[in-house]
Amino acid sequence: MLLHHAAWPEVDAYLKQCKGIIIPIGSTEQHGPNGLIGTDALCPEIIATEAGDESGFLVGPTFNVGIAQHHLGFAGSMTLRPSTMIAALNDWIESLTRHGFDRIYFLNGHGGNIATIGAAFAEYYASYSLDAAACPVQLKQRNWWELPGVMDLSRELFPVGEGMHATASEVSVTYYAYPGAIKSVEMSPKIAPVGSFTDAADYRRTFPDGRIGSDPSQATPEKGQRLVDTAKRALISELTGFFGTKPSALAAE
Ligand SMILES: [Zn+2]
Repeated sequence: MLLHHAAWPEVDAYLKQCKGIIIPIGSTEQHGPNGLIGTDALCPEIIATEAGDESGFLVGPTFNVGIAQHHLGFAGSMTLRPSTMIAALNDWIESLTRHGFDRIYFLNGHGGNIATIGAAFAEYYASYSLDAAACPVQLKQRNWWELPGVMDLSRELFPVGEGMHATASEVSVTYYAYPGAIKSVEMSPKIAPVGSFTDAADYRRTFPDGRIGSDPSQATPEKGQRLVDTAKRALISELTGFFGTKPSALAAE
């Protein structure tokens, strides 16, 4: 069930069965010459939505602009400052906990968000710790590509040119969900360079077409579907443990 497609009495009823919610979280940033700018927000959204449809677990709105200052040298990329993101995430968390949600699972699609999501969680827990109060809420972040089975499948599908940014796997996931947005582009060089970066100007200089280490021209919808199926199964199993509710309890509703 999607929170934004539910009416409030349905959310009330859900909370009597389960106090957990999934929040897809990502970024709006360039993904090379053939990757969608929304890739990092779309991948967790696609996986969470399919898992929510199958299990009945509630999926909230996608937090779709993250930490992408280093991508601002490419048209269309957007960023939050880390301080803005920490504040915004705490407002999202407190809005949900006010209604009784006590397990909030962030399914992340962007490596650049990891540290700031962690800092946002520390900010939230600090208010309890400083008051010497026990926090009844548990927050969790998980990168979709680290769900059990996903990396093994990526290695099998793309033994060469998976890469670190604008990866063949993530582009495949978006091509599966949005076949109308597929772009056919010749990659030059075939596999992008690897290395480190600091700000947007440095990134653009080091990685001229935006990719890092990848050849996303290998991406196909069929491969994306296999990745989504694997990630979805692993996600439902992980949520069942974290939320402490079996999907069958929700299906019986
Ligand atoms: Zn990405």
